[in-house]
Amino acid sequence: MKQPIIQVQQLVKKYGSFEAVKGISFDVMEGEIFGLLGPNGAGKSTTLEILETLREKTAGSVWIDGLSIDTDPATIKSRIGIQLQTAGFYPGLTLLELIRLFNGLYGTNADPQELLAQVQLTDKANATVKALSGGQKQRFAIATTRINQPRIIFLDEPSTGLDPQARRSLWELIRSIQKNGTTIVLTTHYMEEAEYLCNRVAIMDQGKIIAIDTPDNLIDALLKTGFERKKELKQAGLEDVFIQLTGHGIDTNTTEPVNT
Ligand code: ADP
Ligand code: MG
Repeated sequence: MKQPIIQVQQLVKKYGSFEAVKGISFDVMEGEIFGLLGPNGAGKSTTLEILETLREKTAGSVWIDGLSIDTDPATIKSRIGIQLQTAGFYPGLTLLELIRLFNGLYGTNADPQELLAQVQLTDKANATVKALSGGQKQRFAIATTRINQPRIIFLDEPSTGLDPQARRSLWELIRSIQKNGTTIVLTTHYMEEAEYLCNRVAIMDQGKIIAIDTPDNLIDALLKTGFERKKELKQAGLEDVFIQLTGHGIDTNTTEPVNT
């Protein structure tokens, strides 16, 4: 039986008198991909930033890898990987220079070439961030979360704004990171992304968790209520059509399979 690596109990966040997170509780198990789903404004980023020790909570308790965010934020920071918004990277530095910079900041000694190889960016080592495509930027942002060999990485809407090819390439990357034993917590408002990637999901709405389970169990529970899709179920969607038609060669840097 897997152990919880993150435990959240009765977490509350108020911005002034507005309660953005209303007493949520959940566990994340070691090694799983856990999704926080919900519409804009649900409280996903607020929750993630509190878990990352970047934002103060109002009430409740959070343990990360057995440590309380109240007493051990520095140790927690050394064990987690945080995806920074790509806009935060110095746009004029090359990927190699940025990784060296992060190594200096973290006090780590990660091999830049190895990190770039893991995200299929070996040939971009001497390119600047501003010269990368959207999908390449996101893959680089994920590479930087791994510099300190974290036990858990947090990704806030990693695939927002990406085209379908780049999104699927990112999904394969996230799965390959899970295969290495890393726990992943991500937010998304793309349900097909959650269904494909996440072992379990929590659905958030207006600061509350309204459902939490595996995607399969949530779908089965809905079907038991007698729910039926209006349209005949097909084995492929329009996105599959798009990828089949345009898939190979549009942006080879985002379509290569990820080796683990
Ligand atoms: P999500 O990531 O699910 O879109 P957020 O956590 O960003 O949601 O925001 C949840 C709610 O809290 C929203 O109503 C948002 O407007 C509000 N909010 C977020 N950050 C702040 C802030 N710094 N000050 C005041 N309100 C905020
Ligand atoms: Mg958000």
